[in-house]
Amino acid sequence: MQVPFLDLKVQYRQIEAELRPILEDIMSNGAFIGGPQVSAFEEEFAAFCGGGFCIGVNSGTDALRFALIAAGIGPGDEVITVPHTFIATTEAISQAGARPVFVDIDPHTCCMDPVRLRGFVEDSCRIDKVTRQLINQSTHRPVKAVIPVHLYGRPADMEEIMLIAATYGLTVVEDACQAHGALYKGRLAGSIGFAGCFSFYPGKNLGAFGDAGALLTRDENLAQTIRMLREHGQSRKYYHDMEGYTGRLDAVQAAVLRLKLKHLAAWNRARRENAKLYDHLLAGVSGIAVVREAPATQSVYHLYVILLEDRDGLHKHLTQKGIGTGLHYPLPLHLQKAYAHMGYKKGDFPVSERISERLLSLPMFAELTREQIEYVVECIREYMEG
Ligand SMILES: *Cc1c(COP(=O)(O)O)cnc(C)c1O
Repeated sequence: MQVPFLDLKVQYRQIEAELRPILEDIMSNGAFIGGPQVSAFEEEFAAFCGGGFCIGVNSGTDALRFALIAAGIGPGDEVITVPHTFIATTEAISQAGARPVFVDIDPHTCCMDPVRLRGFVEDSCRIDKVTRQLINQSTHRPVKAVIPVHLYGRPADMEEIMLIAATYGLTVVEDACQAHGALYKGRLAGSIGFAGCFSFYPGKNLGAFGDAGALLTRDENLAQTIRMLREHGQSRKYYHDMEGYTGRLDAVQAAVLRLKLKHLAAWNRARRENAKLYDHLLAGVSGIAVVREAPATQSVYHLYVILLEDRDGLHKHLTQKGIGTGLHYPLPLHLQKAYAHMGYKKGDFPVSERISERLLSLPMFAELTREQIEYVVECIREYMEG
């Protein structure tokens, strides 16, 4: 049996008949950028997320970058995030002109540890108070924002993070690029902070036919600024209030996303069912830990991740058995060559480091069958129990 890590072809067959005439229509009308498909998708995705404004952009990375720029974050500022995420989170910070700084994750959630966040912010504000007196400057505080990442489709501990942010005046930008439809205490991931950022990269729970992203916010001024940033800073055609970017969502992607959005709740439910079956079957396999759902949250299982000591051995075994797996992510950001200039070293974020050595992502998508999941777990058992 072959079990792919992800199969986008079966999903395409579900929407193909409905999609073809819509794409024909876009192509024959020649309205490729902006237009009714884009604004309709923005309304529908905002409604899916429980309200607010949605602004379609060209990637999740740009959604993050635009949120930071619009919040006034730039050179001289620091933005806190975690080292256990995809590099897009920190690229967005650097591209906004600010500096990424890290706090470690909680080993149970694999998301930002609020206790460590509080410690970090208290320390940097204490140092800052002394510095402020020394340089006799009253306003400057380098830590300006925090980006919790809802990794694997699991919401970070937003209540604590929002509380800390409110105390210290930090802007909260949610990286919800893996968490379309995830719930935190009854609220949708991405709808809690100042802005929520989504990616519609093809492999995400809601995926376009290319690069696409969106930003969600309840702040009308922010929405207006993002609409300008994505389109060369213009407030109306050829009138530029500022310099912006080529950051728009195009009509073809919006049309694909509109169709898929109708299925998203069902697809997320199917992922959760698949995860439940994995949880159940893996409970009997020694040496395997699963990353469990946190209380009062609903994961949408963008990824289904297990933890074990001999990760590389199992990875190889499953590949030989025709099973696709992934490593998300094998090297924490603070140890990446791209960030060597920051001077971090091994041991600085031990939880992230340890998890990166032990994690393995198993096949996960809505259309995965019971037989496929049973086969994956059988192959894991075979390896683990000899
Ligand atoms: C996919 C992803 C992004 C970036 O999204 P793009 O659309 O590829 O730019 C950012 N953060 C996380 C956690 C992601 O998984």
